Order: sequence, then C-alpha cells, then structure tokens
Amino acid sequence: MFPEKNLAWGRNKSCIRELAAYGTARKAQIGADKVFDFSIGNPSVPAPPCVNNCIKELLNTDSCILHGYTPAVGLPELRKAIADDLNKKSSVPISPDYIYVCCGAAAGLVISLRAMLFHDEEVIAFAPFFPEYQVFTEAAGGRLVSVKPNEALQPDMEEFEKAITERTKVVLINTPNNPSGVVLREDTLKKLSDILKQAEEKYNHSIYLLSDEPYRELVYDGEPVPCVFDYYHNTIMCYSFSKSLSLPGERIGYLALSSEIEAEERDALFASISGAARACGYVNAPSLMQRVIEKCIGNTSDISVYKENRELLYNGLKEQGFDCVYPDGAFYLFMKSPEKDAKAFAERAKKYELLLVPSDDFGVEGYVRIAYCVSADMIRRSMPAFKALAEEYGL
Ligand code: PLP
Repeated sequence: MFPEKNLAWGRNKSCIRELAAYGTARKAQIGADKVFDFSIGNPSVPAPPCVNNCIKELLNTDSCILHGYTPAVGLPELRKAIADDLNKKSSVPISPDYIYVCCGAAAGLVISLRAMLFHDEEVIAFAPFFPEYQVFTEAAGGRLVSVKPNEALQPDMEEFEKAITERTKVVLINTPNNPSGVVLREDTLKKLSDILKQAEEKYNHSIYLLSDEPYRELVYDGEPVPCVFDYYHNTIMCYSFSKSLSLPGERIGYLALSSEIEAEERDALFASISGAARACGYVNAPSLMQRVIEKCIGNTSDISVYKENRELLYNGLKEQGFDCVYPDGAFYLFMKSPEKDAKAFAERAKKYELLLVPSDDFGVEGYVRIAYCVSADMIRRSMPAFKALAEEYGL
C-alpha cells in the first residue's frame, strides 16, 4: 500500500490536463470531428521548414556528438546565438555567460524559483496566471500570492503595492498572457519597476522580476512586446521555443539574466540556478534541438494563422452574444461565463461537445479560456454549438 503521507503529488491534479484527457476519450467515442476541443495550448501551425531541414542535415553528422551530453548550461554556440538574438531586442546587454539553456520555459521557471526562494518566501503573480506557477512555487518551498487584475485584465498596481511584504522575493509576470492574451503595456512595466525599486529599498533585499515569455512573438497588431530587461535591473527572463517554433514536445528554451543584476549577485544566482537544475536531474536540454535552435533562432512558425483564428473566433462569439476580452497576443481568448460559476458553465458547454477551461485554476472567477490554436475549420464548425449554448442563457 502506497503510504498516505506520500500522496501529495498524486493529489496535484491539473484541470487542463483532465479536460484534455476527457477530450481524447470523447473523440475516440464519437469521432474527432464531433468534439470542439479548445482545451490545450498545443500549436496548430507546423514548425517552419528550417527546423526539419536542419534536422535532416544534422542526421549526417557524428552520431556520438549529435546525441551525446552537452554542457549542462547548453552549447556555447547556442548560448551565443541566443545572446545575439536578445541583444537585438534589449538595450541592456545580455551575455552568453548568463544564459542557461533548458527544457522549455517550465524548466526555466522551476530552476530559477528553486534558486531564488527560501522557505516560505513569497512569489507575487498577477491573476489570471498559468496554473503551474502555484505548483512550481510550492515545490520550491515558496508561497504564491495572487494579485487581482483591473477591469482591462492588466495588473492592478494598487493591489500589487499592498501585496508586497518583507517576504516578497519574486514577482512573476507573463506577457503575452496565458490565459487572457493580454500584453503588458510599457506604462505598466514602468510602474511595476518603480514599485519594485521602492520595495527593494524599503526591505533592503533584492526582489527579482521573473518574466515568463513563451508567447513573445505571438502578437498580432504590429506592436512588439516591450523588452523587460529595459525596465528593471533584477530581471530574469524565461523563454521557450514551444510556441514560436511550434516545438512544445521537443522541450527546448532558456533563461537569461540581466547584466544589470549586481555582478557578484549575478554569479551567485547563476551558480544556484545551475545547482538547482542539477538537483532536479535536468542534465542538459536535448542535444539535437540545441543544434537546431542555433540555426533557426529568429524564425517563427506562420503566426498569421493565429491572427486569422483570433478574428474568426472573437467575431463569432460576439455575434452569439458572448462577452469576450479581445486578445492582443498568445493564442487564447478569455470569455466571460454567462453564469457566475465558470465550472458549471464549462460543464454545460460539454453537452455541446465544447471543451472550454474554467478560469478558477488561473486564479480568477467567472471566465473560460478558449485556446484558438486549432483549425479555422473547427472554429467555424463549432459556432452552431456556441449558438445553442448562448441560447440556453438567453443571450
Ligand atoms: N508559461 C506559460 C504561460 C505557458 O503557457 C506555458 C505552456 O503552455 C509554459 C510556461 C511552459 O512552456 P514550455 O512548454 O515551453 O515549458
């Protein structure tokens, strides 16, 4: 019998994964084309041709090197390529020496939180946020403090100031945001930075800004996402190629430290990050993918497909009478639940084979997340189901 006291991890259930598993079972039961699965952020656009071309070329190289261990921090040529790419966006210089190549943004978040947090220290996250933040923070011994958003779903700065305490060690931002699609504006980043600098002075210790950016390139209205390094000195960026290059299963990303973190502190932090990765058993990021990224960095999948999906879905839902937040980026749309209980609404949607994620797991009530990284055809075919659902609520 597995000991009861060891069951904590087993109770750690993800609502998104459960819904995705339900979707898989339902598709097997009634046919894939009958289920409108908007549950998961799996890119629906193929990786750009440079990815497969590069893999084919690499297969002709020395197998023992290609599939061998790499340095734990990543291949030097890749770290340099990443720094060069970041230096096109950041006015603060980024050095290859402070880049850690890792298995996606998730691993970057896990190891940096482990490196920064000490028992019971606090991580502030702005709701709505990616549910894994709670899990990663708690597994690192910290405590997640959630700050409510304002009406536009941007961080509420007054609430933020109130949430900072002596125990605040990390502030976690995600732009463009999963689940709302909101992009943090420049004035928001400036204000956030001012508040953090004052708090560092007040409490006389560093507070780190951890910026989770797997959707950085997925913006649709011509405005690039402001580069976080330009606003605050104690910044760590977590990035992933999962979404921009449509490679989520390949597990490749990186974290990068600002050169404005005080030199001794930066060395200590980077050493702790490396140690945390070792403690997690993250030996190195996949060797083949490191070599692919070195060659393909700067490319993206065809993002225009998501832009078209955004219009199709947003306009379709508005026509049915639903109240939606127009997303600036990522590939998620946040829709108001017509009843207070978003879980009940999402359950009701299942009756029409619509799989929508209730917002409770993202730290806010009353919304559902609709992932539009699906085919345009599925969005079109789902509209009668949304119409029927809307009619149930008299919309
Ligand atoms: N952060 C956010 C906001 C995400 O949505 C995701 C994945 O969906 C991740 C991090 C993890 O990214 P990766 O799969 O690259 O580890």
